[in-house]
Amino acid sequence: MTNLEDLVVHLTEDHKVNPDKTGKTFNLVEEYALLTQLEQAKTMRLNSGGGGGGGAKLPFGVGPVDLQNEIETVIMSTLQPWQYAPIAKLPLPERLKEWFGLVDIGPAENYLPKWVHQIRDLFTTKFHLEATCPECHTATITQEQDGQITHKDALMVTVESQTATCANCGNTWTGVDDLNYLAGKI
Ligand SMILES: [Zn+2]
Repeated sequence: MTNLEDLVVHLTEDHKVNPDKTGKTFNLVEEYALLTQLEQAKTMRLNSGGGGGGGAKLPFGVGPVDLQNEIETVIMSTLQPWQYAPIAKLPLPERLKEWFGLVDIGPAENYLPKWVHQIRDLFTTKFHLEATCPECHTATITQEQDGQITHKDALMVTVESQTATCANCGNTWTGVDDLNYLAGKI
């Protein structure tokens, strides 16, 4: 169970994280506040893509500008106008902290994990494998996203965490040995 206060800290303050998701090591590294990273991503024009060049391909189709706009809109629309007015001019990290102190638990539970996940996704390198999963023998999955049906390769590799996952059966391969094993199977 993720603690909402921790998520607020991750979003608004520089903090330490353990990059080893397997939990095999305990190596804390400093990470900038996720909202700071989002601001930097905007400057880097990560979402200027458009096929031509430069733009990173984002798995969920939302760029840093859209995401920041969404966060600002949610903060405004989930508070009463008289609650929002005094914090409207604050920098976004401060505004989000104030929002967390004012808003109902429902929206906080809905949005905080989603925002942390979406911002982290912006900085994660993922690619799909055009291959059949050796466990469930599925090559593509069908997904509905924003009302649109899309077909995607089932196997996806996340570079930073050295993992491959099958979106169909949920099987995960972690680490170089596992990935080599998978590579030998597909
Ligand atoms: Zn599978």
